[in-house]
Amino acid sequence: MASCSYCNTTILFGGKRTGDLRFCNEKCAQKGALALVANQLSPADVASYIYRVYQGSCPKCSGPGPVDVHTSYRVWSALVMTSWSSRPLVACKSCGTKQKLGDTAFSLFLGWWGFPWGIIMTPVQLGRNIFTLLKASDPNAPSPALEKILRLHLAAQLVEHQHQEPAA
Ligand SMILES: [Zn+2]
Ligand SMILES: [Zn+2]
Repeated sequence: MASCSYCNTTILFGGKRTGDLRFCNEKCAQKGALALVANQLSPADVASYIYRVYQGSCPKCSGPGPVDVHTSYRVWSALVMTSWSSRPLVACKSCGTKQKLGDTAFSLFLGWWGFPWGIIMTPVQLGRNIFTLLKASDPNAPSPALEKILRLHLAAQLVEHQHQEPAA
């Protein structure tokens, strides 16, 4: 099954295609465009950046790490319209858990009220949150998802930097 080239989430329905890459939605696709830049970064630069973030303090609560990616899932519906998203968060485990619990509650209350996607996607998103809450992550090494996201962060910094450089 296809998975999002940006956030790694399995794409069950729809999604967005850019060349050979597939994404859950427009937002992931925009971020994913950086993947092309990211693939050209030097492995040493990427590795040192990953370890700096992983061993640093949490960017959200400034608490102690390890810092990794914690993806939470939410869905909301309004009659015929249903919107679902995956929200990767680079933070410590407790911030990640907080966001997952928050999105679980959010989806539980706001997910169901659309037909047919609300009824279909709400259990999917709830299940994904519960699965990631229960899954024990390896505490001794950064996850592959962290590498993927930080590679993109680094690429974004690079692109931004190039844009800021004076034309003359
Ligand atoms: Zn995605
Ligand atoms: Zn935190």
